[in-house]
Amino acid sequence: MDLKEKIRSIENFPEEGVIFRDITTLLKEGDALREAIDQIQANLDGVDFDLILGPESRGFIFGMPLAYNLKKGFVPVRKKGKLPAEVISKEYALEYGTAVIEVHKDAIQPGQKVVIVDDLLATGGTAKAIIEMIESVGVEVVGLAFLIELDFLHGRDVLEGYNISSVLHY
Ligand code: 5GP
Repeated sequence: MDLKEKIRSIENFPEEGVIFRDITTLLKEGDALREAIDQIQANLDGVDFDLILGPESRGFIFGMPLAYNLKKGFVPVRKKGKLPAEVISKEYALEYGTAVIEVHKDAIQPGQKVVIVDDLLATGGTAKAIIEMIESVGVEVVGLAFLIELDFLHGRDVLEGYNISSVLHY
């Protein structure tokens, strides 16, 4: 199945000049959804890890079924102020301004090996922020798995040295 055919491209969203890759058209088709998850999972074959971390909100969509299939725990990475218990946070740069991501402090333990799952790798800023946040407490990032990678934004360069896989490339 050509999964790219299932992804809708929206021009000038969220701003002028950007082509947004809309995965909702893939999600609503059962066969395509299954194929996408199976392919992300296949890219993690042989990776030994304890937990999946998924950033809000499309990282939840793809991270959770993988965690379920592989019998691993899932830890949500959320935007500032959403998590109720004690958190560790990381501020990172956006095109305009900054954002803060958070994870529950007791959700990850030093020495654990984690995989980060998200729908799309663009500049790598989100993934890099998660890595810096969790490495600061002794967690090891042993893989990053995406459905889509925007090659022309060179997120891979920002994440040099990490094990990165993507099913589709634009
Ligand atoms: P980055 O931090 O790598 O620049 O951006 C990646 C994050 O932004 C991901 O969490 C992803 O969900 C979101 N994102 C950026 N561009 C797109 C896009 O075109 N389509 C989708 N579905 N998500 C995007």
